[in-house]
Amino acid sequence: MNRRVAIFPGSFDPFTKGHEDIVLRGLELFDEIIVAIGHNVQKNVRYFEIEKMVGYIEKTFVDQPNVSVMVYNELTADLAKKHKANFLLRGLRNTTDFEYENSIAQVNRYLNAELESVFLITSPQFAAISSSIIREVHRYNGNIGDFLPYQID
Ligand code: ADP
Repeated sequence: MNRRVAIFPGSFDPFTKGHEDIVLRGLELFDEIIVAIGHNVQKNVRYFEIEKMVGYIEKTFVDQPNVSVMVYNELTADLAKKHKANFLLRGLRNTTDFEYENSIAQVNRYLNAELESVFLITSPQFAAISSSIIREVHRYNGNIGDFLPYQID
């Protein structure tokens, strides 16, 4: 039987408990999940350093050998082909996410017909967590520990 490999792409700036929840629930559906941090080298506008984020995500899933983490700088559809991943995993919090995800999924289907996008609805306790709000809180020295599945140093 073919292994079911999913890519979970995102900026993960930072990776949150909402993202962790999508991965853990995704493991019920897929044999392997690749958390792929999209990184545009030309447009280096991240808030949290990318290599640090790789380390934090690896630490989060240290007990899950079927989860791996990588950085990429190409079309997600091409990355999926390269890793023989037939699924793209994404999370949905609200209609704004839906509108955005709908367009991305249509483009990805066009670029790679083998690739099926799969959406998990957020767990209610994580629905309000967004990376952009966490960045704002951190910028002004607020405590963000409760939103992250790892300790930042
Ligand atoms: P992008 O910049 O590609 O939108 P993000 O890192 O913001 O990447 O998010 C990656 C994926 O995780 C997206 O599908 C997003 O909708 C989903 N996501 C973000 N926060 C949550 C959350 N709290 N609960 C569920 N899904 C989420």
